[in-house]
Amino acid sequence: MSKTFHDLNPSQRILLGPGPSMVHPRVLRSMATPVIGYMDPDFLAIMADVKDLLQQTFQTENDLTLAVPGTGTSAMEAAISNLVEPGDKVLACVQGYFGERLAEMGERHGADVTRLARDWGDVFEPKAIESAVSEGEYKLVTLVHAETSTGALQPGISAIARACHQAGALLVLDCVTSLGGVALEVDAWDVDVAYSAGQKCLSGVPGLSPITLSARAVKAIGDRSTPPSVFYLDLNLLDRYWGSSPAYHHTAPTSTMYALREALRMVQEEGLEARLARHMANAKRLWDGLEALGLTLWVEDESLRIPSLTTCRVPEGFDEAKLRARLRDEFNVEIAGGFGPLAGKIWRIGLMGESSRHEYVTLLLGALRELLID
Ligand SMILES: *Cc1c(COP(=O)(O)O)cnc(C)c1O
Repeated sequence: MSKTFHDLNPSQRILLGPGPSMVHPRVLRSMATPVIGYMDPDFLAIMADVKDLLQQTFQTENDLTLAVPGTGTSAMEAAISNLVEPGDKVLACVQGYFGERLAEMGERHGADVTRLARDWGDVFEPKAIESAVSEGEYKLVTLVHAETSTGALQPGISAIARACHQAGALLVLDCVTSLGGVALEVDAWDVDVAYSAGQKCLSGVPGLSPITLSARAVKAIGDRSTPPSVFYLDLNLLDRYWGSSPAYHHTAPTSTMYALREALRMVQEEGLEARLARHMANAKRLWDGLEALGLTLWVEDESLRIPSLTTCRVPEGFDEAKLRARLRDEFNVEIAGGFGPLAGKIWRIGLMGESSRHEYVTLLLGALRELLID
């Protein structure tokens, strides 16, 4: 007897974790659009729209702006593999899990990595990075804008970028949890490489990840003496497909591209400013509500909290994993626990994109009240 495979029917969850976020029905419907060829003029026009919308969302005029196949880690690997040649010096600023992932990736691509570290939940004084970068001949500085593992938002990006440039280094900024939910101005701040993911504050589906490179970063790739080690994420080849002379490099993920275009179109319709204000208003409701329940937020300084990702301490005497399972099973709500040193200590609550809604905050606070107090 062979096993019977039933229709797909996963529970409909309310996604308030660190991604993926809720996906609007418009985005889901876009994926039912017929699949066409990756060189079809209609498809190239759709990619041109995605590029234009990404430039608006990143607030950049960078010509090399596109989406790489894969999730945020793929965009991270594109940044590192295109810019690092074996032996290059990298200053990796590590204040959480994703900062460390950037450092490790640099090492895997042969960089000579120096870590500048802070406790999980802290951020860097911009001056600390400014002096560290001036002390070594670094080619790259890697930094996470919104550290999803801790809930802390790195301030002072434009001062940090200026110091990097004065020292002859490029700034690679992980914007996976900030793009579309937290203020991010790639050109005004003069960031060299910024990347994100489709499934966080953009509320697309996982599988395509935006990245943008300054002219300085493009030149650094052009100056390499060896081609990038990862063919699939070679940004020169990808840029040719996305821009000047479309030619086969790999088959574009058609349906995911439709979804990204629709998600970005919704960002544009809402307006970036209104979108950021919505993320902030719902975050404040959540912060106030958690504190009213007697919970303590992990990042004390409100100005250093990420509006799209809140961390709070698990109260004494509660098994955090059990509580999360009850939230999922009894309320259909997903939140996340902590990583590494914060495992068992914190919850991570994402209000990203379509997940940033007043009614979800109300639901989560009510559910937590029932589970913790009643
Ligand atoms: C989610 C995340 C990533 C990795 O993205 P994936 O989509 O999981 O591959 C990288 N950096 C940060 C800050 C993230 O939040």
